[in-house]
Amino acid sequence: MSRVAEGWTLRCVNCGATYESDVRSYVCSRCSNLLELVKRGSVSKRGLYGEVGQPGVWRFRKALPLEAEVRPVSLSEGGTPLVHVSRVGARVGLKWLYVKNEGQNPSGSFKDRGMTVSVTRAVQGGAKLLLCASTGNTAASMAAYAARAGVTALVTVPAGKVASGKLAQVIAYGAKMIRVEGDFDAALKITLKVASEIKELAVMNSVNPYRIEGQKTTAYEIFEQMGQKVPDYVVLPVGNAGNISAIWKGFKELRDWGISEALPRMVGVQAAGAQPIVEAFQHGRDSVTAVQPKTIASAINIGNPASWKKALAALRESSGMALAVTDEETIAARMELASTEGIFVEPASAVPIAALKKIGLKLGKGATVVCICTGNGLKDQESVKVQLDSNPLVSGPDQLASLLAKTA
Ligand SMILES: *Cc1c(COP(=O)(O)O)cnc(C)c1O
Ligand SMILES: [Zn+2]
Repeated sequence: MSRVAEGWTLRCVNCGATYESDVRSYVCSRCSNLLELVKRGSVSKRGLYGEVGQPGVWRFRKALPLEAEVRPVSLSEGGTPLVHVSRVGARVGLKWLYVKNEGQNPSGSFKDRGMTVSVTRAVQGGAKLLLCASTGNTAASMAAYAARAGVTALVTVPAGKVASGKLAQVIAYGAKMIRVEGDFDAALKITLKVASEIKELAVMNSVNPYRIEGQKTTAYEIFEQMGQKVPDYVVLPVGNAGNISAIWKGFKELRDWGISEALPRMVGVQAAGAQPIVEAFQHGRDSVTAVQPKTIASAINIGNPASWKKALAALRESSGMALAVTDEETIAARMELASTEGIFVEPASAVPIAALKKIGLKLGKGATVVCICTGNGLKDQESVKVQLDSNPLVSGPDQLASLLAKTA
C-alpha cells in the first residue's frame, strides 16, 4: 500500500470518506462504494497544455496523481485523432460531427489511456502481478503494459464471449488467461473477491481510480482539438461505465480550473440487450437493476456496471441523455462509418453512430457532437461476414480487364 501523491485525496464517491493510502480493493471500507482521486487546488491552462514533447496522456502529468519523479510505463498512448465525419454527419442531420478515434491507441482501444497510469502506479507500489476481469480490451491493454513493465499479467474472461482478435492480443502479449463460466459480471465478481486476499497483486479494472485519471485526458484532448472549445455533446458507449465517468471528470476539471467555461452534455449509449443504465436514467431511479446481458457488442455486454453511480451522476449533472440501440442498428452503423469515412471500429464503438441515427436531428443541425469510437475494428471480425468465395476469381489480365470495365 502506498501513500496517495502529494496534493491528491482519495475519496469515496458516496459518503465522502477520505483515505491517505491506496486501498487494495478500491472500495470504501465504510460504505463499499467506489473511490475517486481528487486534486486539491487547480492546474493552469499553461500547466496543462504548455508541455512540449510527445503528445498523449503523459503530456498532462500535472493533472495526474503521480509524483514528478515516477517513471511512466508507457507505449505512447493517447493523442488520438479527432476526425470531422461530414458524410455520416449529413446522414444524421449534423454539420459538425466528429469521431475521436480511440482505436489508434497502442493496443487498439481507449483502455490504454487508463492502463498506462494504473500500471505505472501499481509497479511504483511494488506490484508483481496484475489482474483484471475483461470483455477483451482491458485484458489486451493490461497484458501489453504488463509486458512493457516486465511483470506478470493474469486475466479472467467470460468463456466464449470475447472477440478472437482480443484473445490473440492477450496471448501474444504473454498474459495468463483464465476462462470463467458465465458473463463478464460473474468474472469481475470472483476476480475482485480473490484479489483482496493476495499480496503484491493489483487489480486493473476501472474500479481502480488511476484508470479513470488516465482516461479523463480524452476530454483535455477534445477541448484542444476543437480549438479550445467544449463540444455541445459527447456521445459514447457505456459498458462498465468507467469511461463516461472519466471523460465527464476531465471536462469538469477544465471548467473548475478556469480553463473552459462550458460543459458538454453527455449522451450514454448502451445495447438494447444490456441497458441497465439507460433503464435507470430514463425512469429516474437512484440505483441500477442488474440484467442478463446479451449483445453482439461484446465490449459492452455488461449487465451490472461497476461505475453506475458515477455514470448516472454524469448523465444528470450534464443534462444528458441515455438511449439503447439494437445489434442490427449497431452493425449497420459500423459498416457505414467504415465504408463512407474509412474508419473501421469494433461493434461497441459504433453504438454512438447508431444512436445519432435516432436523435441526431433532435440535437440541432449546428450542434458540435463528438463520438468516442472506443476500439479498433480489426479486433472483432466475427460480425463482418467475410464471404470470399462469392467474390469474382480471375486467372488472367483479360478477365480482370472486363471485370474492371463493368465496375468503372
Ligand atoms: C471498455 C470498452 C467500452 C466500455 O467502456 P466502459 O468504461 O466499460 O463503459 C466500450 N467500447 C470498447 C471498445 C471498450 O473496450
Ligand atoms: Zn463511503
